[in-house]
Amino acid sequence: MIKKLIRSIMGKNKKVSGPAQPLMLSAKEHGIDPKLVSPNAIRVTDTLQQAGFKAFIVGGAVRDLLLSIKPKDFDVATNATPDQVKRLFRRAFIIGKRFQIVHVMFGQELIEVTTFRGTVLDGAPKDEHGRVLRDNTFGSQAEDAVRRDFTINAMYYDPASQTVLDYHGGIADIRAKILRIIGAPEARYREDPVRMLRVARFAARLKFTIDPATAAPISVMAPLINNVPAARIFDEMLKLLMSGHALACLQQLRKEGLHHGLLPLLDVVLEQPMGEKFVTLALTNTDNRVVQGKPVSPGFLFASLLWHQVLEKWRAYQAAGEYPIPGLHLAADDVLNAQTEKLALQRKIASDMRDIWAMQPRFERRTGKSPYKLLEHPRLRAGYDFLLLRCASGELDPDIGEWWSAFIDADGPGREELLTQKPKDEDGGAVKKRRRRASRSRTKSAAPAADEA
Ligand code: ATP
Ligand code: MG
Repeated sequence: MIKKLIRSIMGKNKKVSGPAQPLMLSAKEHGIDPKLVSPNAIRVTDTLQQAGFKAFIVGGAVRDLLLSIKPKDFDVATNATPDQVKRLFRRAFIIGKRFQIVHVMFGQELIEVTTFRGTVLDGAPKDEHGRVLRDNTFGSQAEDAVRRDFTINAMYYDPASQTVLDYHGGIADIRAKILRIIGAPEARYREDPVRMLRVARFAARLKFTIDPATAAPISVMAPLINNVPAARIFDEMLKLLMSGHALACLQQLRKEGLHHGLLPLLDVVLEQPMGEKFVTLALTNTDNRVVQGKPVSPGFLFASLLWHQVLEKWRAYQAAGEYPIPGLHLAADDVLNAQTEKLALQRKIASDMRDIWAMQPRFERRTGKSPYKLLEHPRLRAGYDFLLLRCASGELDPDIGEWWSAFIDADGPGREELLTQKPKDEDGGAVKKRRRRASRSRTKSAAPAADEA
């Protein structure tokens, strides 16, 4: 009776069901290159299997292996409970309160081990829009597959037998390059609106076509993202921006109508004509670094994405009579405050962003002690890379970037010589001395060093 009542209240969300028996593919049929599989992931599945449990590599790693891409991390799914998993490994930590997962560490590599999840029941707690709030039940492998987001993310690989288990036609979709959500798209987006952002991310990153039924509800349901806690949005945005395909992902979000009025960050990034070149350069830069396996700092990335908004507000503060340096800090505050409402920027990231921005006027001082002081700044490298982006985008005279490259590389006497060099003027010909005092009240390019304000 009560169950019936709950069902009629929650009724809109039909239970998604899937086949109990998966399609099974042999090594010859799926063609996964065993050399691309992490030995530590195999160690985890072997250990679990030897203890009598089921264990598979799952999710994104299987998808990438099938696409002959080396996965960046490996997840394992098992029928062992978190406690049972933990007992089998020396360095294993149970993480999370609601749905516990186990992190198994091997040196730097982390293998995430998750117990098969059960079906989302109609009676599971949801918010007023239908977003599932708690769903911490364990289940069978088939139930676990149904709960995953896309057909291509719901396959299991057993390294021992080299078999792939495919419950939802993932193999066919991988081959046809189609991104398809499992179950009824509306219901799945309602349960978890973040899946709409994931559609954009995977379609862009894998260059897959979005199945029309999967794409159709997105523009209408996009506002549900407003309802998702900021920390989750942040995690998903970070994955998107660090995917090595950030530019393509953001263009995809725009195409799906997912940027408008939802995330202030995306509004800013995608709709600032002024900053478009800067943002494109910053994202291309980041994408190249990710592809080359170089580290990328989230602080630098967000600082780049929001720079032109900072510039705009900074100019407004100065036009209203504020001094340049306090004006820059006020602008930074405004921009950061507007973002944190929707996007839980971690404190460390926000402080990195602030440092990078605050350093910028200091690069324009190329006389006296000030450049030496800046060399000692712990975040000099990030600030300097940011300066180069500003030069490359045409916002600043490239001469400044070149001067700093030379100054950073030079030895003692070389630096002294650079300090006595007179800055070139706009057309690179005649030289003129920049008069500090006189330029104080002028625009950003004449702003004094931050440490003087
Ligand atoms: P990436 O290579 O970017 O890490 P991924 O597919 O591994 O891609 P993760 O966010 O690491 O993505 O998630 C791991 C797996 O968990 C996914 O492959 C999918 O099966 C499942 N999953 C993740 N997020 C969701 C979600 N919001 N709804 C349903 N299933 C999800
Ligand atoms: Mg992953």
